[in-house]
Amino acid sequence: MASKTLNDWQQRAQSLKIEGRAFIDGAYVNAASGQTFDCISPIDGRLLTPVAECGEADINAAVAAARRAFNQGVWAGLNPRARKAVMHKFADLLRANLDELALLETLDMGKPIGDSTTVDIPGAAYCVQWYGEAIDKIGGEIAPADHHLVGLVDRVPVGVVAAVVPWNFPILMASWKFAPALAAGNSVVLKPSEKSPLTAIRVAALAKEAGIPDGVFNVVPGGGAAGKLLALHMDVDCLAFTGSTAVGKQIMQCAGQSNLKRVWLELGGKSANIVLPDCPDMERAARSAAGAIFFNMGEMCTAGSRLLVHRSIKDAFLEKVREAAKAYTPGHPLDPATNMGAIVDGIQLERVLSYIAIGKGEAKLLTGGERAEPVSGGHYVQPTMFDCPTGKERVACEEIFGPVLSVITFDTVEEAIRIANDSDYGLAAAVWTGDLTCAHDTARQLRAGTVWVNCYDEGGDMNFPFGGFKQSGNGRDKSLHALEKYTELRSTLVRLR
Ligand code: NAD
Repeated sequence: MASKTLNDWQQRAQSLKIEGRAFIDGAYVNAASGQTFDCISPIDGRLLTPVAECGEADINAAVAAARRAFNQGVWAGLNPRARKAVMHKFADLLRANLDELALLETLDMGKPIGDSTTVDIPGAAYCVQWYGEAIDKIGGEIAPADHHLVGLVDRVPVGVVAAVVPWNFPILMASWKFAPALAAGNSVVLKPSEKSPLTAIRVAALAKEAGIPDGVFNVVPGGGAAGKLLALHMDVDCLAFTGSTAVGKQIMQCAGQSNLKRVWLELGGKSANIVLPDCPDMERAARSAAGAIFFNMGEMCTAGSRLLVHRSIKDAFLEKVREAAKAYTPGHPLDPATNMGAIVDGIQLERVLSYIAIGKGEAKLLTGGERAEPVSGGHYVQPTMFDCPTGKERVACEEIFGPVLSVITFDTVEEAIRIANDSDYGLAAAVWTGDLTCAHDTARQLRAGTVWVNCYDEGGDMNFPFGGFKQSGNGRDKSLHALEKYTELRSTLVRLR
């Protein structure tokens, strides 16, 4: 079949039936209070649907259903091979409903449909499949012990896992939590961001269709108040959070005030992308530097928002980056040719524009710096670059979470490493060099959870742990290590005589 056009997607959008209710104990329900909030598309400002605003009664109902299902062992008690089969079916259903889910994601969040169809939805399906595939291949240990003992060490599900997630990759970030949590046998209560709840709500029905028992997978839309209720809940065993560092700190406090639930945080970043004069491919490095900050409208925790360029190559390199940035001219998010869609909502748009205004006062504007309006009524910003003379400018230090690149100049590798590490964050970093020794030396010294050499944002495989040093969080999403977050270690000692 020929690939779809803007017109095809627009027509499909018109006939799309959008679910806005919560999903609790295997069924769609309105909030007990009857309250809703409006889900508005950032593409053109139109109302997509009212969405259930979950309050205390709904959160309690979801947690109670999750606890009951866990205690009954309807999921945790299955042979891992049986859970695997359900998760594979779940992944198949995500793929079978790719167009609908991608459309929901783009309408709700504003990202280009070409990304929703190739990155977000396939990525979530792959994640569900990967953890399903893994779970019947992991066993425990028999630990050395006295001869009259058998010492067993195994991992058991932690129980009820709350997942509180952001809006930048709504279903993908959610899947990085719920897939390993479900695979390990837990019950899940997922709270999507109030800015992008639609795919999570739809996916709940697919989980049920795949065979995940009632109560095991619940979705409770709502704002920060709903997230806080989960963070304070006495019967939530673990809270896995992706979002801002400020909210992550509050969640840790809530855990301390309540039941010491395990808290896993994936937080913000201000990642440094270092380009040395012996970079082996300046063209690719420039395209990559532009993609590192302009892909997904810059709404990326790993955004390469600080570009550190050696003085000797600065002018020529920046010219190439400016050229590459043109590929990210904002366009209609439902047009498959668009690489840069809409900013998620008016609040985020104002945040980005206010940082651009600050940047204009403290740094030199190299390109962009204005709103754009490819679709009237929507929220769009031009790809923007600033040359920051000191690296201490606010746009060079604070996470903007938008398409704004800050360029910092350096003279030595040591200086570049010092600047890169001079941040409260430590999520990701990159270095471009043709010298193997320099690459490894530099990578070792960068204080970040992911370091790329001669690339940026590579690693779609689930094999790589993903998370941050310092105030970028704790714990890791992806990889087998993520299963550690959703399990407790248990020692069983059996005396033989
Ligand atoms: P946010 O912190 O505002 O919100 C994240 C989630 O927390 C939302 O569901 C929100 O409703 C909820 N929330 C808000 N206040 C709460 C409270 N007091 N208690 C409990 N929950 C609360 O973040 P955001 O604006 O949705 O996302 C952007 C942030 O997420 C950026 O800082 C970005 O770097 C970060 N992020 C990190 C990663 C990562 O893997 N490290 C990935 C994506 C995004």
